[in-house]
Amino acid sequence: MPKAYLTIDDSPTRISLNLCHYLKDNDIPAIFYCRGDHIEQHFDVTVEMIRMGFVIGNHGYAHKRAVGLSYDDIIEDISRCEDLIDGAYTAAGVKRPGKYYRFPYLDRGCGAWIVDFDKMPDDVRRIVHGLFADGLYLDDTRPTDALVEKKHKLQYWLADQGFTLPFSGVSFPWYQHPQMAGALDALYTFSTSDWMMTARHLAKDHPYKSTEDLKGKIDSDPYLFNEKHNNIVLIHDQEELEDVFKALIDHMVKCGIRFLPINPHP
Ligand SMILES: [Zn+2]
Repeated sequence: MPKAYLTIDDSPTRISLNLCHYLKDNDIPAIFYCRGDHIEQHFDVTVEMIRMGFVIGNHGYAHKRAVGLSYDDIIEDISRCEDLIDGAYTAAGVKRPGKYYRFPYLDRGCGAWIVDFDKMPDDVRRIVHGLFADGLYLDDTRPTDALVEKKHKLQYWLADQGFTLPFSGVSFPWYQHPQMAGALDALYTFSTSDWMMTARHLAKDHPYKSTEDLKGKIDSDPYLFNEKHNNIVLIHDQEELEDVFKALIDHMVKCGIRFLPINPHP
């Protein structure tokens, strides 16, 4: 049976509790990577999500691209969200399982240069590039040395602060490359590309135009149904996309994918 971790970005929103009830009804565990500004707006929702047994990860305070921020500003942005998450766990009376982070837009400090593509063997680079750039037209020219250094410094900071990954068994050979498996921020192995279904993005020239297209993306993914390795699936918590969310998760479940508990001690 193929297995995956469900990671949900950009929470909390007005629909978060609907999503939580839907997941709970279907016995699906998940981690919600929350934005600090959203936690401030929906603090009680965050507390309730924790009480319902879901894990809260950090997705930064203001959801800005790290490439345009200084190292200090990024640290401040992550820390501000950390404080809010700590507050929500305290209010829920639940012990926090661990510190988990995902960069907004997966911008880890170097824009679309998500990993050091030039340090990957050709076959690995092709797979990893496709994973992050599918349907996107990214300017992924090699960034300056200063930006690359900022990216590495951020990883050291995350390690120093005790951030870890709540996943295990993600053992695809291409994911085992140090640029992927060595990261302390959460990457993914499958993106649902659900965000392309918002009205704003449907107006653009993305390859996926309907929920059916996205189901096709699931069906044709070369790794999602590999039973030897666990996947990390990315989907979003967006008010516009509640139906898309449920349709895609339903589809994955129907296709036999089992969602794994978020594991604080892999
Ligand atoms: Zn996001």
